Amino acid sequence: MRAIVETVPSSKVTFAGIVKQFPGHSGEEPVYAVNKVSLDIEPGQLVTLLGPSGCGKTTTLRMLAGFETPTAGEISINGQTITHLPPNKRDVGMVFQSYALFPHMTVYDNVAYGLSIKPIPKSQVKERVDKVLALMHLDKMKDRLPSLLSGGQQQRVALARAVVTEPKVLLFDEPLSNLDAKLREYMRDELRKIQQRLGITSLYVTHDQAEAMAISDKVVIMNKGEIQQIGSPRKIYMRPCNQFVANFMGKANFLKAIVEQSDSRHIGLNLLGQRLVIPKDPIFEVKAGERVDCVIRPEFWSIDPEGKFQGTVERAIYLGPYVEYEVALGGQTVVVVDYMHHLHEPKSAGDLIRLGLSGQSITLLPPGQE
Ligand code: ATP
Repeated sequence: MRAIVETVPSSKVTFAGIVKQFPGHSGEEPVYAVNKVSLDIEPGQLVTLLGPSGCGKTTTLRMLAGFETPTAGEISINGQTITHLPPNKRDVGMVFQSYALFPHMTVYDNVAYGLSIKPIPKSQVKERVDKVLALMHLDKMKDRLPSLLSGGQQQRVALARAVVTEPKVLLFDEPLSNLDAKLREYMRDELRKIQQRLGITSLYVTHDQAEAMAISDKVVIMNKGEIQQIGSPRKIYMRPCNQFVANFMGKANFLKAIVEQSDSRHIGLNLLGQRLVIPKDPIFEVKAGERVDCVIRPEFWSIDPEGKFQGTVERAIYLGPYVEYEVALGGQTVVVVDYMHHLHEPKSAGDLIRLGLSGQSITLLPPGQE
């Protein structure tokens, strides 16, 4: 068995065409909680399912844990199908929002529990529990009961208990939701460090976009049971594939533009009367004369006296690290975020403002994907 604090090659998880249908209540239509979900989690990766309440992320996680059985499709770990195995035969560890610690057991006994029900000699159990407790900085409180620990410490015990059995896959179901904002940030970094150090393939569920960005190798955006987009946090933020993803990952301006010209490498756009050239990337075909929808993040605008776009500030909100402006531009209101406000006088409502925009930062949405 591998040593707990070493990084070892870990497991690959595959969801192939997973559907989960629940019967509808009192004559209602059945609910497709999860619909045609296909997803690979590469060895050692942390993949996050992100989406609004009811989008199917918990059901997806529970199918990997074995608490739910898919209506269709296959789930496999390292190529071996586990779709119909009971939870205790799957070799997965789980960390819940509620911690789910045994209140009458000490920290040590909570962590040792998963090993004590396996055929492992007592001396080895102690060695492994001690190693994990040290890794989680819990060694000094191993004789305490969970009720005497803070929320963050309890969650570390829950994580210790999940990793001590050296599972093939770790599952996290909104593990930080019960912590206050500051501790949540600290714990998410701790959790990510430990996951990377152990190299355990992990599936993480959250509805918090910042949390997903901070800890994930790959983010899966779900809506109404279906995957909308899969990619690195940066890819999903910079190049959302539709309006739902763009909105879910932060603020976004959606502006119409007209394609003036398109060749194999570039697209010339007319945006609010100004010409911008954007790289074609591997995107869908567009033709001259077509109207397209552009996604522009508020901070992609720059306040620049030489900028091509001129508008009028309607509202200025000072938020410390940045100033947020609502600017009337070409008959609509756009949101502009200025992180460089320490370099120039802030603007006020009624001020004229010139804005620059790089073509590279514009994402076009495929037609019909609004
Ligand atoms: P949340 O963040 O609120 O937990 P979620 O994205 O995790 O939401 P799920 O809990 O997976 O979403 O639920 C997806 C859909 O399936 C919802 O419409 C939910 O009402 C429905 N659902 C989940 N479990 C059951 C069940 N046991 N019976 C019937 N419907 C269910």
